[in-house]
Amino acid sequence: AAKAAGKGTYRFFASEMHEQALLRQQIEEDMQRALERGEFHLAYQPVIDTQSNALVGFEALVRWTHSVRGVMSPAVFIPIAEESGLINELGEWVLRTACIEAAKWPSSVSVAVNISPVQFSSQALPTLVTSALAYAGLPADRLELEITEGALLNDTAKTRAAIATLKGLGVKIALDDFGTGYSSLGYLKTIPFDKIKIDQSFIKGATLRGSNNIPIIKAIVGLANDLGMITTAEGVETEDQLALVRELGCTLIQGYIYGRPMDAYSAMNRAQGNGSAASGHRNDRAE
Ligand code: C2E
Ligand code: MG
Ligand code: MG
Ligand code: MG
Repeated sequence: AAKAAGKGTYRFFASEMHEQALLRQQIEEDMQRALERGEFHLAYQPVIDTQSNALVGFEALVRWTHSVRGVMSPAVFIPIAEESGLINELGEWVLRTACIEAAKWPSSVSVAVNISPVQFSSQALPTLVTSALAYAGLPADRLELEITEGALLNDTAKTRAAIATLKGLGVKIALDDFGTGYSSLGYLKTIPFDKIKIDQSFIKGATLRGSNNIPIIKAIVGLANDLGMITTAEGVETEDQLALVRELGCTLIQGYIYGRPMDAYSAMNRAQGNGSAASGHRNDRAE
C-alpha cells in the first residue's frame, strides 16, 4: 500500500510540476505579446523627505494587466521575465518610459527605476541609460537606479567597476531591500551607493513602543551616515512607524502613509504640488 501511495504521490507531483511549467510558459508567451501590444504600464510611488515633508521623487513600478488573468504582481512576472530573458526588453521599456515621464515633472522631483540583476550584469546597461536620458531630455542626476544585493556580482572588482561606470554617467545608485540579503555590510564600505533603502520587513511591526527591529534600523542609519549615504525607510504605513523612522534619522520615506503607487496622471499632479506631500494622495486616481 505504501508503495502504491508513494507512486501516486510521485505522479501527483509530476503532473503538478508539469502544470506549473505550462503556466510559466504561457505567462512567458503572454508577456512577449503584452510587450508588443503595450499592455504594461508604470505606477509611481511618492518618496518624501523626512524633515521638510517635500516630495523628492517617485519610484517607478511596473504593472501588467493580463487580458485574462487581470492585474498581475511584478513579484510573479518579473522572475519569469528574468529567466526567459524578456527582462532586457521589459527593463528597457521601463527605463525609457520612466525617464520620459520624469522629464515632465518639476526639476526637484526625480525618478527611481528598478534594475534586475540580469540587466545589471549586462554590458549594454550604460548605453541604454545614456540613450534613455538623452531621448527623454532628462538630466542624469534626476535618475536613480535601484539594485538589490542579488545584483552584486560575486566579483567585487567587477561590481565596483560597473557601479563606477553608471555613476560616471551622473545617475544615482540605490541599494534596494537592504538587510534581506547576505553580504550587506561588507559591500557597503567598498561600493559607493548614494542611498540605502531599508527593507520594509524592518519597518513592519515597528512601533515607538519598541521592537527588535529598532536597533537594526538604528545601526543601518548610523552606518549609512558614516559612509555618507542617505537612507529611505520603505513600507511606512502608520503614524507610529512614521514618527519612529523620523526619530531614528531616516532621510526619506516611502510607504502607503504618503501614497500608494499611482498612475502617471496622479503622479504629475502630485509633482506639480496640487495637494500637499503629506495628504495629497486622497484625491489620487487608482493606478
Ligand atoms: P521594490 O522595488 O522594493 O518596490 C517596493 C514595493 O513595496 C512595491 O511593490 C510597492 O508597491 C510596495 N510598497 C510600497 N509601500 C508599501 C507599504 O507601505 N506597505 C506595503 N505592504 N507595501 C508597500 P510592487 O510594486 O508589487 O513591486 C514588488 C517588487 O517587484 C519591487 O520591490 C521590485 O523588486 C519588483 N519590481 C517592480 N517594478 C519593477 C521593474 O520595473 N523592474 C524590475 N526589475 N523589478 C520591478
Ligand atoms: Mg525598488
Ligand atoms: Mg524595496
Ligand atoms: Mg522589494
